[in-house]
Amino acid sequence: MLRRRRGVVVRGVVQGVGFRPFVYRLAQEEGLAGSIGNDTDGVTIEIEGPAERLEAFVTRLRTETPPLARIDSVAVRDLTAIGELGFRIVASEVLGRVSTGIPADAATCADCLRELLDPADRRYRYPFLNCTNCGPRYTITRRIPYDRPQTSMAQFKMCAACQAEYDDPANRRFHAQPNACWVCGPRVWLVGADGATLMADDPVATCVDRLAGGDIIAIKGIGGFHLSVDATNEDAVMRLRQRKHRYGKPLAVMVKNVDAARAVCALTAEDEALLQTVARPIVLARKREGCGIAESVAPGIPWLGVFLPYAPLQHLLFASGQVRALLMTSANLSEEPIAIDNDEALKRLGAIADAFLMHDREILQRCDDSVAAVVDGAPQLLRRARGFVPLAVGLPIDAPPMLAVGGHLKNVFALARGRFAYQSQHLGDLENLTGLEFFRESLEHLMRTFEVYPQTVVHDLHPGYLSTTWAKEWAHERGLRLIGVQHHHAHVAGCMAEHGLTGAAIGLSLDGTGYGTDGRIWGGEVLVCQLDGFERFAHLEYVPMPGGDAAVREPWRMALGHLRGAGLDLASSETRDLLGVQEKEARVLRQMMERGVNAPLTSSCGRLFDAVAAVVLGRRVVDYEAQAAIELEGVAVDEPDSEPGYSMDFIVGDWAAREPARLCAAPLWRELLSELRSGVGKARISARFHAGVAAGFVKAAAEARTATGLGQVALSGGCMHNRRLARLLRAKLEAEGFEVFLHAQVSPGDGGLSYGQATVAAAMLSKSKSAGETD
Ligand SMILES: [Zn+2]
Ligand SMILES: [Zn+2]
Ligand SMILES: [Zn+2]
Repeated sequence: MLRRRRGVVVRGVVQGVGFRPFVYRLAQEEGLAGSIGNDTDGVTIEIEGPAERLEAFVTRLRTETPPLARIDSVAVRDLTAIGELGFRIVASEVLGRVSTGIPADAATCADCLRELLDPADRRYRYPFLNCTNCGPRYTITRRIPYDRPQTSMAQFKMCAACQAEYDDPANRRFHAQPNACWVCGPRVWLVGADGATLMADDPVATCVDRLAGGDIIAIKGIGGFHLSVDATNEDAVMRLRQRKHRYGKPLAVMVKNVDAARAVCALTAEDEALLQTVARPIVLARKREGCGIAESVAPGIPWLGVFLPYAPLQHLLFASGQVRALLMTSANLSEEPIAIDNDEALKRLGAIADAFLMHDREILQRCDDSVAAVVDGAPQLLRRARGFVPLAVGLPIDAPPMLAVGGHLKNVFALARGRFAYQSQHLGDLENLTGLEFFRESLEHLMRTFEVYPQTVVHDLHPGYLSTTWAKEWAHERGLRLIGVQHHHAHVAGCMAEHGLTGAAIGLSLDGTGYGTDGRIWGGEVLVCQLDGFERFAHLEYVPMPGGDAAVREPWRMALGHLRGAGLDLASSETRDLLGVQEKEARVLRQMMERGVNAPLTSSCGRLFDAVAAVVLGRRVVDYEAQAAIELEGVAVDEPDSEPGYSMDFIVGDWAAREPARLCAAPLWRELLSELRSGVGKARISARFHAGVAAGFVKAAAEARTATGLGQVALSGGCMHNRRLARLLRAKLEAEGFEVFLHAQVSPGDGGLSYGQATVAAAMLSKSKSAGETD
């Protein structure tokens, strides 16, 4: 039979994910000879055998890909047959430069779970079992290449049985770097709040007993410690809140499996699929009434953040059935980085946890749980961290090596090179030194991991962001180029880049706070965007924010700003009663606004939501970011999308003179207040408010289309986390004939900002480069 030989180059996420043993098995099954090896950014395969077998091999390569692998491209070329026999896996070193990738952490696979719960298996109840299809990756890796000596498994020498699996290409644990068992691997133990080790035959079982008894246990996981309590025990949940000093913020709940998740939440098919992805994010879903979860887990909202176990240790917590749902929250105080080290945890959490379930596999990269939700039928990331980092997100244009530092709150930075951006995990707020330290430590790690050494540093225009100050210093010390990118341009450019849009588009950037080019606080923006620049077509009418940042924490202040903008008499007792404001408070704020003292102007859409929540729900002060807006969305959860909206005025600008149009909420306020007075329910008022805002921005987009001829709209900004608003905008825009784009791989909020910044800077640099070339 005529033999042929082919060279196959596979690009994508194909290293450290069981790809080589998979190819080895395929070659065996198809009776092909040849070899496979890793190279710089993929794998290279040579195969030899009958033509139809070669075809079958290439087809199966694409259709039977292992769960953690992602194939971006397969290139096949003809070679001359050499009569080779057998199939070999070539060691990485032989091909020269090693791989530069580290996969993301992945949830325990079905095979490992079966072994974990099988009394006859040698790894029965072993809390650290894994294989090439699952287990920790990013969080246990010190540096590239991703090999055991470079991970926190280095100190554990494999026993003979584990080593045999590791060396056998036909085994599921072939080159599984964290491979371990009871004989040779990491262990768990229990520690009291005083730091003394607690004797226990089975520390996990004892931990479960204590959880079932209402104790708060700090449990070391994959990306850090969780604080855990029985989520059905109201007293225990409240005690945790009191000790953490966090009252309002919704906390996530882990349940055994998807059936258990169905019992606490009404899940759509999309929710269930998202829950079960290998990244195992926390999924925001509709909570079932009377599901037994303590009210104080997620007070005041109709959703619950629910997720499934992703580490063997977590599966063991649910194995006995003693606990049905565990509250699992990042072990930290307020917005500090999550604790990862045993001693650090004891020191920082000793006053919160009753005991600690620790282990001796060191966590090298802090990584919070990711948070996602299904928005308008498609998954959207609210927090991109464990399970997603450090997977690359594609760029539509080439980027020279650069660092984009992101925003201020919910910071995420991005390194970019070529057609890829590597976003860091969610780093939290850069308001304190620990936050900045976490930023530096992750930056160093990712720079080393991807060998990206920035020549350009990209930052937000806000002079008060710690990330901006840091970027300027860092670039200055190293003599690097600095590029500032406007906040809402970055949001929209990120959405465009995710969808490969490289021309011009209309961008709706509906957001909380971002520094505008006029020095004011933007956030309700209709932009005519290109990747390398933008014009402001329209914006929400400016209103004052009495007290500046205080108005973000206290929505009643924002309400006064908006009511004044709508022409209401702030001195009237009716207005004061509406907001529960004292006469003196109202007078002081009115004076601030009249004199323009500490009352910066804002066009923020998020602040409009805050103001309406203050008036409709009486939400005076917020406990966590966007709480007022989230509650406002929540109260309308059962209202139909078809509710008619309140009106907004579109005040035309002069596009030719680049004078932006304005979207004015005064009529919306008048209609809303009149319905409130006549006793219309809060739910309906909220639905009509959402519909009115959506219709206002759709009108503005239609005007922008008339002026520019553009028919594509990119939706971005933190308000796009609002499912009702996102849904309404898309439906109304599509009804107007627009092509609509929403974020998918990158958060629409400030967690996605750095990706957009990198896009803008890459576009600016490529333009100036091509301009330079044509000169
Ligand atoms: Zn596995
Ligand atoms: Zn072993
Ligand atoms: Zn923003």
